[in-house]
Amino acid sequence: MRRKFLKLISFSLFYSLVLPINSLLAVTKKIINKNLSKEQREIMFNEGTERPFSSDLNKEKRKGFYHCANCNNKLFASTSKFDSGTGWPSFSEALPGAFKTKTDYKFGMVRTEYHCAKCGAHHGHVFNDGPGKNGKRFCNNGLCLIFRPE
Ligand SMILES: [Zn+2]
Repeated sequence: MRRKFLKLISFSLFYSLVLPINSLLAVTKKIINKNLSKEQREIMFNEGTERPFSSDLNKEKRKGFYHCANCNNKLFASTSKFDSGTGWPSFSEALPGAFKTKTDYKFGMVRTEYHCAKCGAHHGHVFNDGPGKNGKRFCNNGLCLIFRPE
């Protein structure tokens, strides 16, 4: 009886610890665009990061929308883009439902990384030091984005 009880306790403990992690990882990652480069695949499906100041999108100032380079999901409006000085395209807000977030503990830091809600591709990290009213700064790898001017 006691044994059964202990088993039950450890069982529920196990699931309360493991299940939330599992459900976070459940975002299915899918390569949809077969023409993605090696660098794009590394960033989007292996949580890589491009070199700062390497993206042409840093200088992009036209009106339009930024889409996922893998699945074409519409992610950011040009009106939320700002120059953060970090060397990566930065946005104060994402379009509603564009991303799912996950806590990232790499490099001894606790950061919130975000993934395309549609295809699961990794795009970047979101920080709480942005200039907008909600204080967000989406730091996005330029290689993950396709800009479509209006
Ligand atoms: Zn996507």
